[in-house]
Amino acid sequence: MMISETIKLSVSLKNTRALIIFNPKDRSYRVVDCSKKSFCRIYISKNCPPYCEIIVAVKDFALKRRIPKAEVVEL
Ligand SMILES: [Zn+2]
Repeated sequence: MMISETIKLSVSLKNTRALIIFNPKDRSYRVVDCSKKSFCRIYISKNCPPYCEIIVAVKDFALKRRIPKAEVVEL
């Protein structure tokens, strides 16, 4: 049985709140919910683009690249 490598992250930035599932191993992510999803056109791509500030903050947090601009909490 495979052990899931994903982490569930709650992200808040300014007026945006999001719930993201992130896999540090392959850096893939899935946006479960985001209050700014219409801005990111989630209804078309089903996910946020890599340059979305929520995704950037998730990667900063999970990959320990730098201090994230958003508040990121591992659930
Ligand atoms: Zn986004």
